[in-house]
Amino acid sequence: MTKKRPQLDPCPLCGGIIEAQMITHEERDAQGIFYIFENVPARRCAQCGEVWLPAKTIKLLDQALTHTKPLKVIKTPVFDLAIQ
Ligand SMILES: [Zn+2]
Repeated sequence: MTKKRPQLDPCPLCGGIIEAQMITHEERDAQGIFYIFENVPARRCAQCGEVWLPAKTIKLLDQALTHTKPLKVIKTPVFDLAIQ
């Protein structure tokens, strides 16, 4: 008898093993405002490091943005290499 384990599909980019992992996700909206989300449930390839966000996670991000207040607001330094 074989034991069935919930297994994720291999990475479409490199064929590596994809693992469920909590990540820090960064996103910028249409106004250029930068958001950081911590402890985001994601899928990450153990080999190439590519990250995917499941549809359920994207819903959670939308909910957090529209229905909750941020934990904190930080300043973000911006550099431009064309101005040196
Ligand atoms: Zn990969």
